[in-house]
Amino acid sequence: MAERLSAARRIVVKVGSALLVDADSGRLKRAWLEALCQDLAGLHRQGKQIAVVSSGAIALGRRHLGLGPGALKLEESQAAAAAGQIRLAHAWADVLAGHEIGVAQVLLTAEDTEERRRYLNARNTVDTLLRLGAVPVINENDTVATAEIRFGDNDRLAARVAAMIGADCLVLLSDIDGLYSADPGIDPGARFIPEVAALTAEIEAMAGGARSGLGRGGMVTKLAAARIAVQAGCPMVIASGHGLHPLKAILAGGRCTWFRAATTPRSAKKQWIGGSLKPMGRIAVDAGAAKALARGKSLLPAGVTAIEGEFQRGDAVVLVDGDGRELGRGLVAYSAEDARRIVGHRSQDIEAILGYRGREELIHRDDLALHRDKP
Ligand code: GLU
Repeated sequence: MAERLSAARRIVVKVGSALLVDADSGRLKRAWLEALCQDLAGLHRQGKQIAVVSSGAIALGRRHLGLGPGALKLEESQAAAAAGQIRLAHAWADVLAGHEIGVAQVLLTAEDTEERRRYLNARNTVDTLLRLGAVPVINENDTVATAEIRFGDNDRLAARVAAMIGADCLVLLSDIDGLYSADPGIDPGARFIPEVAALTAEIEAMAGGARSGLGRGGMVTKLAAARIAVQAGCPMVIASGHGLHPLKAILAGGRCTWFRAATTPRSAKKQWIGGSLKPMGRIAVDAGAAKALARGKSLLPAGVTAIEGEFQRGDAVVLVDGDGRELGRGLVAYSAEDARRIVGHRSQDIEAILGYRGREELIHRDDLALHRDKP
């Protein structure tokens, strides 16, 4: 099963607070981070793209601000996150720089992965960073996130990120080495589960509450993360990060729990675009564009003959041919207003017409779900 990690191209690694920050001193565990970054650098050298979802901002910041132990008020944890995040990001940048790997900080809230326009922006940014060989270090934007708009735990944030960028492996490093049939701290008969083929009710029942004092994720949030990841076609693994070199340990076949993906990232995305989004407009294309789409190309403004409806960038639209036959659906890269101004024009002219340099494509091929894609 370790091949799921060794064969992956795009990997998201989530690191829990308890691993990165010493519970007693509130200080960063530098030696641990250095060992993990050696593992990451090894994968990076093999050409893999890696995004890190790192917790620890609040845990680091509370010491810095002199906040005592115990539960923090919302504004205190937001302040602690602000003070801790800068240190957290700096530590990652510093250690990965030793391996000549560039680091970029990305702070997200739940809304950024749910609202389509923001989703597109977040996805394009992370995607671009990965293509440029940088490691995005992602955390929740705790400073602005209040109850209604927050994930609250980085397990689910990591799964959303993995789904958003079409990752093919999600690694959750935490203080637990995997899933047990019962809480092993309480029940000595608890059985270790090395692989979960499907998230059945029986599996869900195995999850207990959080046990670690620093982070927010317990087994419940890990299973919620698994649900998001496997439905997006991304296998997930829960492994202990207690030892040094936890990724090497997974690659060597060490103890961990794998969750099998329910689909592929590609078909999960096509299903999402084609099925679950309400289309906000219609775009008619000429015969040449229809042919190009059928060959797997993107839709360029030059091939569009008419635009109906009022949509925003990132909304789903229906694509039709000259006879009004529905070809499929896609997420559009321009608002209806801007799209109307550039239709029929060459992509090189977009900047002169709109006054900014947007995408060359009106709908990128990664954002298309054509009916011919259906099984
Ligand atoms: N975003 C929080 C932090 O960086 C951690 C949330 C979690 O532990 O899941 O402190």
